Amino acid sequence: MASTIKKIGVFTSGGDSPGMNAAIRSVVRTCAYMKVDCVGIFRGYQGMIEGDFKPMDARSVNNIINKGGTILKSARCDDFRTPEGRKIAYEQLKAEGIDALVVIGGDGSFTGAMIFNREYGFPMIGIPGTIDNDIFGTSFTLGFDTALNTVVDCIDKIRDTASSHNRLFFVEVMGRDVGHIALNAGVGAGAEEILIPEEDRGLDRLLESLKRSKQSGKSSSIVIVAEGDKTGKNVFELKEYVEEHLPIYDVRVSVLGHMQRGGAPSCYDRVLASRMGVKAVEALLEGRTNLMVGVRDNKLILTPIDKAIKGTSKMDKELIRVSEIMTT
Ligand code: ADP
Repeated sequence: MASTIKKIGVFTSGGDSPGMNAAIRSVVRTCAYMKVDCVGIFRGYQGMIEGDFKPMDARSVNNIINKGGTILKSARCDDFRTPEGRKIAYEQLKAEGIDALVVIGGDGSFTGAMIFNREYGFPMIGIPGTIDNDIFGTSFTLGFDTALNTVVDCIDKIRDTASSHNRLFFVEVMGRDVGHIALNAGVGAGAEEILIPEEDRGLDRLLESLKRSKQSGKSSSIVIVAEGDKTGKNVFELKEYVEEHLPIYDVRVSVLGHMQRGGAPSCYDRVLASRMGVKAVEALLEGRTNLMVGVRDNKLILTPIDKAIKGTSKMDKELIRVSEIMTT
């Protein structure tokens, strides 16, 4: 049976991440391939309410696969949290002839789309775009791999200066309440300690480990701290704490911040985005809705969006064990 969907709207919402452009490109090109119209919605739900739309064809997305950020821009929009705001959004979409949505964003953006679907029956499929990798229903979110490469690159550089001066560096990385970036980049960059919210082993253990490092002859040390770490101290307080208890160390702090969200997407993120975009459009044209595209065991899967929102992404226990062995 031919699909009733004739025009798909695509937008990026919430925090941006590398790979979002590659996903937009994939959605637009899949629509062109399937002979379905595609409209870009600028600035997420804000642009939806304001009718900030632009028809897109295969050529509208030339030369963006390698670009960080999002050509459609992203925004946070309080009006969409209200029934009145969503009603205006619905009227704008209808006036433009858009009859289904691909939302590229995080769990907040998915929640908005789910509520909108409940109220207006608007078909939607989500693509997870966030560097934090904190979404249930996928082993990898778009941007996570790129962020890891950025963090590892920064830590390699910090290590050069740390070892030249025999210094201890605390490096804070992003991740909100989860430690995926810290754990993976910490293992990849050979950090001496990795502090993640999921495994609070206390400050005594940190001091013990740093003492051991010094005694075993290490000339420099890198400690990765996830921003949501639960030691009860922020990264600057940690520095003071260690300097107070282990004066042998000359401690420095580096907060990597927003550079982790930028930059050209890695090949992995570009390929994943291309695959997810195809899957999202295909799912809509098959009459499916309220699902998020994810990847597990290198196969694309679809997860009910409410599960993706409510579930928590689990830490890789095996990698935690590897990190413990590597930091010996
Ligand atoms: P992310 O998608 O990265 O998690 P946010 O949590 O900031 O980002 O959500 C992005 C946008 O999604 C919000 O600015 C708002 O417009 C919309 N949104 C989030 N939660 C809701 C909700 N409960 N109801 C309606 N819209 C929502």
